[in-house]
Amino acid sequence: MARYTDSVCRMCRREGTKLFLKGEKCFSSKCAVQNRPTPPGQHGQARQRKASEYGLQLREKQKARRAYGLMEGQFKRTFDRATAMKGIAGENLLQLLELRLDSVVFRSGLASSRPQARQLVCHGLMTVNGNKVDIPSYTVKEGDVIGVRANRKDITHFKAVKEGSGRVIPKWITSDFENLSATVAALPQRDDIDLSLQENLIVEFYSR
Ligand code: SF4
Repeated sequence: MARYTDSVCRMCRREGTKLFLKGEKCFSSKCAVQNRPTPPGQHGQARQRKASEYGLQLREKQKARRAYGLMEGQFKRTFDRATAMKGIAGENLLQLLELRLDSVVFRSGLASSRPQARQLVCHGLMTVNGNKVDIPSYTVKEGDVIGVRANRKDITHFKAVKEGSGRVIPKWITSDFENLSATVAALPQRDDIDLSLQENLIVEFYSR
């Protein structure tokens, strides 16, 4: 599978917003998009011209895709699932993205970024309702309990998690850091998703 190997902070600077891809650095004053809020590259500042309607739609789609760490094909398949569901396609899309196992592991505070959460899942450290799940795209359901495999709870990363990072956990997740677990207390609603995304532009992008 193709993999992005350049600096992830460049992606945030390209999208002009925090995508939270670098763990604790994203929550500190060292965040690159805070310190250099221009697009990356030698001519970054010169590129700040008025975007076309298509350009705006494309950037919004790229922003969402990069924030959740999906390749184009995966993102489009998630969009297709969202349009097949009842309700508003854009909101369904964001809900499906939030309910990915790697995203929930990040949101619950068990990982400091989605890329780290994805790694924890892929390496077989995480469980859902007591069963090992190593598929980052696994969709969790309301009431599911995310945990850490018993024999992996004492690795350095989880020792730090137990001490707490002070991060704000969304209200649809109940985290228990002492036991390294998190419960999906409710399905995330649009107001619970704090990414500055205009999901209607993503729908328009794929409806062209
Ligand atoms: Fe880098 Fe994180 Fe800031 Fe993005 S939010 S620029 S990944 S430090």
